[in-house]
Amino acid sequence: MSVLVYTESEDGKFKKGALEVASYAKGVADAMGTSLTAISFNTEDTSELGKYGVDKVLSVSNDKLNNFNASAYADAIKQAVQKESSKVVVLSQSANGKYIAPLVAVQLEAGYVSNVTDLPESTSPFQVKRTAFTNKAFKFTEITTDIKVLGLSKNAFGLKESEGAASSEAFEPQFSEEDFKIQVESVDKAKDKVTIADAEVVVSGGRGLKGPENWGMIEEMADILGAATACSKPVSDMGWRPHSEHVGQTGKPVASNLYIAVGISGAIQHLAGINAAKTKVVINNDPEAPFFKAADYGVVGDAFEIVPKLNEKLKEFKEKNA
Ligand SMILES: Cc1cc2nc3c(=O)[nH]c(=O)nc-3n(C[C@H](O)[C@H](O)[C@H](O)COP(=O)(O)OP(=O)(O)OC[C@H]3O[C@@H](n4cnc5c(N)ncnc54)[C@H](O)[C@@H]3O)c2cc1C
Repeated sequence: MSVLVYTESEDGKFKKGALEVASYAKGVADAMGTSLTAISFNTEDTSELGKYGVDKVLSVSNDKLNNFNASAYADAIKQAVQKESSKVVVLSQSANGKYIAPLVAVQLEAGYVSNVTDLPESTSPFQVKRTAFTNKAFKFTEITTDIKVLGLSKNAFGLKESEGAASSEAFEPQFSEEDFKIQVESVDKAKDKVTIADAEVVVSGGRGLKGPENWGMIEEMADILGAATACSKPVSDMGWRPHSEHVGQTGKPVASNLYIAVGISGAIQHLAGINAAKTKVVINNDPEAPFFKAADYGVVGDAFEIVPKLNEKLKEFKEKNA
């Protein structure tokens, strides 16, 4: 018996989410009194996982898996579960993790709980806390199947270091032709830009900014803070910003530590995408804007006065603390 964690990587290096999900899975393994095995794909050095509680890494090296392939990855995870007799599989709620988790659950006839935020309340019966209604509420779900699949919400648990070292074992899962029926030919990524999904900080603008020509101050703030830029739906619908930046119910979800909303009203469809952000700062000239109800910090005032001043202060602060 063991817990198995899927550790996502990019260009041979583990993503931060992989270390977070390993930290969490270590907590699950401890609660169950068992060990933690990780499966990794084409990663150069797996020793880092030991720092986050992984006992053993099943290391898959296969050129056919250089680009993400949900079917083949899910098949490999299933075989790892069978090899290790794992009772719990943990994945991150990244885009790839969300894609794989249901496939793994179906193949293993396992119960799957998504958007998990905390360690299990109890492991017998197996009950976990998860978010519901786009992060507006929590609920406890019991999984009754022999094998359980958990999807950990991004940024919900954080990184927890533990003492120990991870041994590494080459693992060669068997693949079928079916696994490679769909192939990713190439992946083009925006360069020098922080993506919304990976960002610790997101600076977002709404219709209150009046036009695309005014986005310079938003980009400046994002540069200073090492943040990703985002926007409300009408802003991308009008072509002021790319659709990849649109946040909300019909856009991207944000789980950053800080979300700064400038000139955004705070309609429920927008809030649905940012409920999981830890600290929300709102700048709006209307004190009645609904966003203030969801905000941790609010500034009532004209964005065109406040944002340039804030940028100056942030620059000063950064220089002093560099
Ligand atoms: C089915 C459906 C799905 C939707 N999905 C999404 C979604 O995923 N994401 C999303 O964002 N929206 C979504 N919407 C649209 C949503 O309902 C709102 O219309 C939208 O979020 C409003 O965008 P906004 O806040 O930028 O613009 P507005 O509602 O026009 O608000 C602009 C805000 O800027 C403030 N402002 C104006 N001038 C200044 C200034 N100088 N300084 C500071 N503040 C200023 C105003 O007080 C106002 O609060 C959806 C709608 C529907 C029906």
